[in-house]
Amino acid sequence: MESVDPATGAAIAEYDEHDTAAVDAALSTAADRFDSWSARAIQDRCRLLERTADLLRERTDEYATLMTREMGKPIGQARSEVEKCAWVCDYYAERAPEQLADEVVGTEADARTLVSYEPVGPVLAVMPWNFPFWQVFRFLAPTLAAGNVGLLKHASNVPGCALAIEEVLRDAGVPEGVFTTLLIGSDRVDDVIRDDRVRAVTLTGSEPAGRSVAATAGEALKKTVLELGGSDPFVVLDDAPVEATAEKAAFARTQNNGQSCIAAKRFVVHTDVYDEFVDAFAAELDALTVGDPTDEATDVGPQAREDLVADLHDQVQRSVDAGATLALGGEPLDREGPYYPPTLLTDVPEDAPAATEETFGPVAAVFEAEDDADALALANDTSFGLGASVWTADLDRGERFARGFDAGCCFVNEYVKSDPRVPFGGVKESGYGRELSRHGIREFVNRKTIWVQ
Ligand code: NDP
Repeated sequence: MESVDPATGAAIAEYDEHDTAAVDAALSTAADRFDSWSARAIQDRCRLLERTADLLRERTDEYATLMTREMGKPIGQARSEVEKCAWVCDYYAERAPEQLADEVVGTEADARTLVSYEPVGPVLAVMPWNFPFWQVFRFLAPTLAAGNVGLLKHASNVPGCALAIEEVLRDAGVPEGVFTTLLIGSDRVDDVIRDDRVRAVTLTGSEPAGRSVAATAGEALKKTVLELGGSDPFVVLDDAPVEATAEKAAFARTQNNGQSCIAAKRFVVHTDVYDEFVDAFAAELDALTVGDPTDEATDVGPQAREDLVADLHDQVQRSVDAGATLALGGEPLDREGPYYPPTLLTDVPEDAPAATEETFGPVAAVFEAEDDADALALANDTSFGLGASVWTADLDRGERFARGFDAGCCFVNEYVKSDPRVPFGGVKESGYGRELSRHGIREFVNRKTIWVQ
């Protein structure tokens, strides 16, 4: 496996893939460790998460630089990502004991009945490259706190991040085998899922990858959590402050170089403010600095891989062919590296790729809505259902939208984000199950009924 700096095309490092024997040994160690790790007091496990958070903060620059080099994220956003990983460790270190405490349930007068939350064993996480630390930490912090052990199959373009995560846990005192990186390609994931030592699997990534993992896990009767793509609507109502909302919209679309499942992708704008908003949005997108992700002034770095920029450009071209108007950008930049500029499509037909597919890069599609009902219908007219936001001066009106959105994470006057304190996940083809909060920590546990009479 090779990691390559997308900004320059330069090779960073090469890693040997784990062969069958190495994977077998890792699974055996994980299964062995599960017994001792799950037997520890939860407070003990949480103390190690706290130590992990401290180490992450100490090593922020080192890990942020690694992410930026392997996948091109702007360096300031990479630092924030490391900080957020420390936060989720601290969050579960503090909250897990109470979130997994026995729940006493009243049943018969002469019975003591309770629900106990018990770990299930080794859990496999198949993770993507776009938030190479965060996606993994939001899985591992609750999973390890609950007493499970973790196996990571990270995306093939971020092996350095995968090994760094294993390292920081080891340095914090987490016993070897409690969290293990498997350096394998996606063609070897099915075998790991089928292995009896693996009890459950979670995947964050594309819809095809999710379908494949869920099919194999289904055959093996193993639980899955899937966090797949999104095509989040960003609804601008006629009473929203246009300039300020356009600024938020530009960030919501281009954060992480536009490569986020919860980036706003479809902008649904009330007809009364449509022209004004499109002008302000185009100006905001045009003002962004595209360039070297290690430069603090950069807003948008390169796309993570050449093939991803080719796919994105193809979606833009097919949308224009279908009748969309290209208002900004729309051509890969003529420079070294897979750079794609902030791009704005207006008058997007409802069957154009920018309307129906996930665009994983800085491409915004704008739609005009006649009224609230039309705006909500356009927002929900997608096979995805991850996040949604609405922008309005009227909070009741905003909350009506939040309740009407067919999505898992709905925000009023804030862009969609993940936060350890609230559940994160989608409906429809965005997947199922929840990460984060007390809902996330209860995904990979046996909710055991204990009835004593
Ligand atoms: P993938 O979904 O292909 O990759 C995500 C992870 O899944 C990687 O670890 C990958 O391994 C693994 N994987 C891929 N296919 C399978 C499979 N059949 N069985 C088991 N594991 C599999 O994402 P890509 O990097 O190819 O990106 C393609 C598109 O996916 C993006 O344009 C975007 O639309 C979407 N995506 C969504 C993300 C999200 O956060 N929801 C994150 C990343 C991508 P390997 O790297 O070895 O192939």
